[in-house]
Amino acid sequence: MLITPISAFDDNYIWAIQPVAGAPAVIVDPGDHRPVLAWLEQQDIELASILITHHHWDHTDGVLPLLEHFKVPVYGPRNPVIKGLSTQLADGDSFIPEGLEQRFTVIETPGHTLDHISFYTPGLLFCGDTLFSAGCGRMFEGTAPQFLASLRKLAELPASTAVYCTHEYTAANLRFAAAAEPDNPSIQKAQQEVSNWRRDHKPSLPSSIARELSINPFLHARNAEEFAQLRQWKDKF
Ligand SMILES: [Zn+2]
Repeated sequence: MLITPISAFDDNYIWAIQPVAGAPAVIVDPGDHRPVLAWLEQQDIELASILITHHHWDHTDGVLPLLEHFKVPVYGPRNPVIKGLSTQLADGDSFIPEGLEQRFTVIETPGHTLDHISFYTPGLLFCGDTLFSAGCGRMFEGTAPQFLASLRKLAELPASTAVYCTHEYTAANLRFAAAAEPDNPSIQKAQQEVSNWRRDHKPSLPSSIARELSINPFLHARNAEEFAQLRQWKDKF
């Protein structure tokens, strides 16, 4: 599979998944239809289907405008707030997105929002605003035990799984991680790597589960209380 980031807003990545170059693309979390349409036109390809992780506008606002151009399936969580969904998914559901041949499994990952789901297929994870590289999403709707349980589900995926999250927050997350774990050499090494990638205008993503297990302080929280303390500290950092 070929996975391409389409930049949107200040720091969002809308991921495009294709079985091979030139094939119709599956688009993950189109918060804005304009960069997606421009990219499809530039590649001279069609839209195959859309995956949605949660209801926030910067993940969903492009759905209805894209449906005006392409009649395609839209897979997302069971949340009536999200407009344009054709298939509502819950934990453990599996499906083959239109345009691909691989089966994806749905993992419910509440915490950032209550409706948040992540999409997993062997080797790849699309986790929206749940797990970021060296961080995690803000806890808008869920509780600390819920969010930590969601992160732990993702942390149990095979170590080599590539992690595609929605935001380029890695450098800021690593600054916090370095403050939270000043003696963790993996975090210092990652800071250097990410600063080189960003200087070269390359995304810091995808990450991997193995990398996150070594650099992500939120995956190191021993219990929900520790997780909540970290999250509160990061919110003000
Ligand atoms: Zn969000």
